[in-house]
Amino acid sequence: MDFLPAFLNIKDQPCLVVGGGSVATRKVELLQRAGGRVTVVAPGIEAGIRALDPVPVCLDEAFEPRHLNGMTLVIVATSLPGLNESIARQAVSRNIPVNVVDNPALCSFILPSIVDRDPVIVAIGSSGAAPVLARLTRTRIETLLPAALGTLASLAGKYRQAVKERFGTPTERRRFWEGVFEGDIADQIYRGRAGEGERQLQALLADGDLDFPPAGEVALVGGGPGDPELITMKAVRLLQRADVVVYDRLISDAVVDLARRDAQKIYAGKTSSKHSMPQAEINDLLVELARAGKRVVRLKGGDPFIFGRGGEEIGELMKHHISFQVVPGITAASGCSSYCGIPLTHRDHAQSVVFATGHLQNDSVDLDWESLAKPKQTVVIYMGLLGLETIASELIAHGRAPETPVAVVHNATLPDQDIVIGALMNIAERVKVAGLVSPALIIVGEVVGLHDRLNWYGGVAG
Ligand code: SAH
Repeated sequence: MDFLPAFLNIKDQPCLVVGGGSVATRKVELLQRAGGRVTVVAPGIEAGIRALDPVPVCLDEAFEPRHLNGMTLVIVATSLPGLNESIARQAVSRNIPVNVVDNPALCSFILPSIVDRDPVIVAIGSSGAAPVLARLTRTRIETLLPAALGTLASLAGKYRQAVKERFGTPTERRRFWEGVFEGDIADQIYRGRAGEGERQLQALLADGDLDFPPAGEVALVGGGPGDPELITMKAVRLLQRADVVVYDRLISDAVVDLARRDAQKIYAGKTSSKHSMPQAEINDLLVELARAGKRVVRLKGGDPFIFGRGGEEIGELMKHHISFQVVPGITAASGCSSYCGIPLTHRDHAQSVVFATGHLQNDSVDLDWESLAKPKQTVVIYMGLLGLETIASELIAHGRAPETPVAVVHNATLPDQDIVIGALMNIAERVKVAGLVSPALIIVGEVVGLHDRLNWYGGVAG
């Protein structure tokens, strides 16, 4: 290890920043966030520095050795290599920790990339070898930590002493905190209900029973349209703490793999015409698992509330008083639209967009054709591949021009995404010739004409 990772307490301590440009401004801000009392010295200090709150002491003059007097640390950010080096040597000889921006060789300390969930701070350094890599690593960690982690940590800080008094041994205290951080209390806070979380923590503290009965719960989670990176951060967090994941056919393996390795994974796959696990059975399964104290993630393709039967499933959970939450996902229409370069609305072509299902409960396609055929509107049809011919001819019969462009997209957002483009009058034939299979989404409207120009992701235009 080239550097010792440590967190410095600089509250109310005098800190010096040499340099008055934009890099110096960022350093002043950082030091002030940690409570440092900052003095900036440079001939020509940028207005941005004087606009900071609080305004640091600004000495509009050239650096002199006396500026180091009494300083706790110094950051050097001038554009003059000779000056930077000279200040660094003086600081080191006076045992003042020094950082020279972008010059690790002259630094006695370096500033890490940080993930800020104050009071939880994650610091990432690369010993000066690869700052960009450190920043990218930071981005990855950023996505793993809930935004409200800091709130949770602050709450823990508030009750730390009380917990110490309540539980005599370190083992008891550890169990208490693990229960708090991995259970319902943390969850309440992550869901933005800090008051309820605190109330539960107080109850647990008063009760003192460390054998928490595991409280079962279900999270109805949108898994997005396919590309695993299109899943939300909340979905990833819930997947990583789930005991059981119940997933659909449209969920890609890479998304299921985001769950803990030892989580139980149950496939409840469905195809459009055949339900391999009847909906009633899925509902019962969710209730049963939650009652057994499991944390269940019910992972659905796209968004659970768009043709996902999410409403039916939570209706059932409510009936049985099972705690649940719903996490939205990117629906197939959005995924297809972005990855095919087909904006769903456009000032010149479509002022509204309608999502419809092409598969009805009694296997017929019986939609409000009149309203779907309206001009200047994009129509997105889910589960419509089987009924494509009917859909196209009904739209024409109800007044939409036969030349209206149509796209049918298979496996949008995945590497094997495939797209067939045509018009209402010929799309059914083209799709047949191309041999396109389910899952596929149909987009009808003038916006499809933009695909030629805006397509950035690839796929074969048929
Ligand atoms: N809740 C889902 C939709 C489930 S219905 C969502 O919000 O996306 C299943 C239908 O969604 C499929 O028949 C197909 O029409 C569409 N679909 C889902 N993922 C798709 C994808 N990657 N590419 C194309 N269509 C998709």
